[in-house]
Amino acid sequence: QVNLNQKIDYVFKIVLVGDSAVGKSQLLARFARNEFNIDSKATIGVEFQTKTLFIDHKTVKAQIWDTAGQERYRAVTSAYYRGAVGAMLVYDISKRQSFDHAAKWLEELREHADGNIIIMLVGNKSDLGSLRAVPVEDAKEFAQKENLFFVETSALDATNVESAFLSILTEIYGIVS
Ligand code: GDP
Ligand code: MG
Repeated sequence: QVNLNQKIDYVFKIVLVGDSAVGKSQLLARFARNEFNIDSKATIGVEFQTKTLFIDHKTVKAQIWDTAGQERYRAVTSAYYRGAVGAMLVYDISKRQSFDHAAKWLEELREHADGNIIIMLVGNKSDLGSLRAVPVEDAKEFAQKENLFFVETSALDATNVESAFLSILTEIYGIVS
């Protein structure tokens, strides 16, 4: 727990990208507030949420940006990517198309974001194992080829959500500190 009066050593902007309905907003709600809403409406207007944590005895404020329901390629403006040091590229393990589109999102990131941005490929909804449409091996192969970190998460049952954010923040910390 971080004291409110604590000075902040670092602020890291992280952007969430990926197709609509893959669970970006719920991953953020789980990480920032430990909440999950079954009937989450498409995100409207919310820009970002923050969570402050300790890494290596420093206070790191993660400022995590969520698309305002504009998940078509090119609809996400360059202001969204500006200053981002990390990105979570999210797909739904039960929706093949959302994984096939990951390459498109990567193109967007490489075009608009800083060249040194750390990208984590996130296969969300790991609780839906019986509906799996994306084998772990396919995702690992893509991640390896594109130099991305990779993790499967469930915003619903909280599996790996905290650790996914913590590991991307730690990677970023390792670079800037
Ligand atoms: P976004 O459009 O990418 O922001 O997706 P949302 O966060 O709004 O989630 C879309 C839908 O997927 C909602 O009905 C969520 O309840 C559901 N959802 C999100 N994460 C998970 C998850 O980890 N497991 C399951 N089973 N459903 C999820
Ligand atoms: Mg959303």
